[in-house]
Amino acid sequence: GCLSRTLPDVQARLQSTEVKPIQKLMVANRGEIAIRVFRACTEMHIQTVAIYSEQDVNQMHRQKADESYLIGKGLPPVAAYLNIPEIISIAQENGVDAIHPGYGFLSERSDFAKACQDAGIRFIGPSPEVVYKMGDKVEARQAAISAGVQVVPGTDGPVESAEAAVEFCKQHGLPVIFKAAFGGGGRGMRVVKTMDEVVENYNRAYSEALSAFGNGALFLEKFIERPRHIEVQMLGDRTGEVVHLFERDCSVQRRHQKVVEIAPAPQFDQSMRDKMNADAVKLAKHVGYENAGTTEFLLDKNGQYYFIEVNARLQVEHTVTEQVTGVDLVQSQIRIAEGRTLKELGLTQDKIQLNGCAIQCRMTTEDPARNFQPDTGRIDAEGMGIRLDSASAFAGAVITPYYDSLLVKIIAQARDHPSACAKMLRALREFRIRGVKTNIPFLLNVLQNETFLNGSVDTYFIDENPGLFH
Ligand code: ADP
Repeated sequence: GCLSRTLPDVQARLQSTEVKPIQKLMVANRGEIAIRVFRACTEMHIQTVAIYSEQDVNQMHRQKADESYLIGKGLPPVAAYLNIPEIISIAQENGVDAIHPGYGFLSERSDFAKACQDAGIRFIGPSPEVVYKMGDKVEARQAAISAGVQVVPGTDGPVESAEAAVEFCKQHGLPVIFKAAFGGGGRGMRVVKTMDEVVENYNRAYSEALSAFGNGALFLEKFIERPRHIEVQMLGDRTGEVVHLFERDCSVQRRHQKVVEIAPAPQFDQSMRDKMNADAVKLAKHVGYENAGTTEFLLDKNGQYYFIEVNARLQVEHTVTEQVTGVDLVQSQIRIAEGRTLKELGLTQDKIQLNGCAIQCRMTTEDPARNFQPDTGRIDAEGMGIRLDSASAFAGAVITPYYDSLLVKIIAQARDHPSACAKMLRALREFRIRGVKTNIPFLLNVLQNETFLNGSVDTYFIDENPGLFH
């Protein structure tokens, strides 16, 4: 159904909501993002609560909170952080009045947003209805269309059968990409280049989507050749006001997953920037988007761009936007959840300005059987313009094999793209990591690549440059 907020809705909400300061906040997450949120809270004099699984007993995020509670006894590592009833009851028993979901885990689960709401706890994110709508990529596409934002040509709704997929391909031509309606994290996508692959790919994509996301629903999009991935950061408040915080270029991807992110997008025409940022705001306003979110676009070689999806949460790469705008996105999220307006926060569009360039590299462990204890290794770098967001950037950190492979986010900031690249290269070279294999050699190659330095990579970059891995 249509979930767009109408004017009377907004007025009713305005009257019913007043500013209610948050006193105690729980992060329903782990690792670097939990620490990132705790630090923001401490600066705001908000009490912090961590949850941790049995596997995370010795993890840093637990130490960074004022209180911490064990969850998911006997459960597998990931399941512990997905146990909604237990998380809600720990929050209630300990006087928590807001929950930040971080990214991953429960961050895009509308049932979790709803469970928080029902328990009288503020969920730091959009309303359950908006989380639901944006989590369904078919619905999100429809919302973009009705807001007047150009989407990738594709099916109007889910493709109901392999025959329907064949029909679409005959009409619109190849290549196309099958996408899971409820997919994420770069999974559940299949590119189709010839007609005789359509049926087989439909069946495969369907069963992949079913097992990965619990729902096999698929839709089809034209496959855009050599696109750049450019996304716009937005903030919305309870009055329906929305601002953008400019864009990020996330074209450096491996298996559809981001590895290096840049703000603002380099080699990006100013009129295109204005138009794309305005489109993101238009869409967010149309759906009544509250709190932080990101609208993602693909930009093709002809300078056309198309909406692909909205991420209704804080993203891994929010850091680069913070560096170039000077806006603390996590603190803004918390203030908005308290009921403050963007205007009260000084976040009107004219006050949000770009300053310089920031690049983030995701340093990951490359060794699947990782379980190490660095002794004298230096998982650290510093100096002007360097920021590290991590849960393991210290000597003696124990890297466990239970969760994702992200070790450290390194963010370099400077006046322009070339100097930010130089700073990043210098910082990467300062790391001395022993006991575990990382992607540092790969990142060093990226940072010295001509195309990357020019600021003109597209999403084919890594696949087309196998030399980056040597
Ligand atoms: P997820 O939610 O799994 O991250 P997205 O829809 O955000 O999936 O797409 C992730 C990446 O997959 C994009 O950044 C792009 O590289 C690629 N991709 C997605 N849709 C298309 C398309 N229609 N044409 C070409 N590449 C695409």
